[in-house]
Amino acid sequence: MGFIFPAQDQPVVEIAGGGDRFPVHRIYCVGQNYARHVAEMGGDVKLSSPVFFSKPADAVVPGGGAIKYPTATSNLHHEVELVVGLAKGGIDIEASRALNHVFGYAVGVDLTRRDLQGLAKKGGKPWDTAKGFDNSAPIGALVPVGECGHRASGKIQLSVNGQRRQEGQLQDMIWPVAEIISALSALFELKPGDLIFTGTPEGVGALKRGDNIEAAIEGLAGLSFSII
Ligand code: MN
Repeated sequence: MGFIFPAQDQPVVEIAGGGDRFPVHRIYCVGQNYARHVAEMGGDVKLSSPVFFSKPADAVVPGGGAIKYPTATSNLHHEVELVVGLAKGGIDIEASRALNHVFGYAVGVDLTRRDLQGLAKKGGKPWDTAKGFDNSAPIGALVPVGECGHRASGKIQLSVNGQRRQEGQLQDMIWPVAEIISALSALFELKPGDLIFTGTPEGVGALKRGDNIEAAIEGLAGLSFSII
């Protein structure tokens, strides 16, 4: 049996050093994972579990490049984040074993229609249109754990047109990677190919057409893209 129209291409992420690519299954995201970012958004830092939302797998923009300013917003924001790529899935994964499921790490940017997110928050509505739009997940090459080790500390930063906008430390994450994987796996069966955006430090802000963005995390391949 064939398909009634051609199946979509498999979304992929590049792997540092070239060669094989990482097929993306789902994109999960953590919100409110750095206290000073929660504060700048006017939120409550004392959460009993991580805040999760998701983006469609085909929102990835592997390697960055030129990204069109999205429709339906006049306040597109950048959020630089550590991204975890899973090589192994599971349900109810214990935090103490969760890092064994990691393939590698990458730098990603959770592009956000902040105006729509503000309306959603105010109205108690879902975040999908604010977070899960086309091309909302530019991501650099995944560096395998064997090369970069587990990224529990180190600087995370983002510059726009050469000016530093965001700078934080991975060790300031409220929910570390192992606890994020464990909590997610209690809600969803995780699969190889899942990506997890782990939240952003403070300094989020607006992007406009013509901006050049550089995102970096110590020990990982950098990510650059422009908004056109
Ligand atoms: Mn985010």
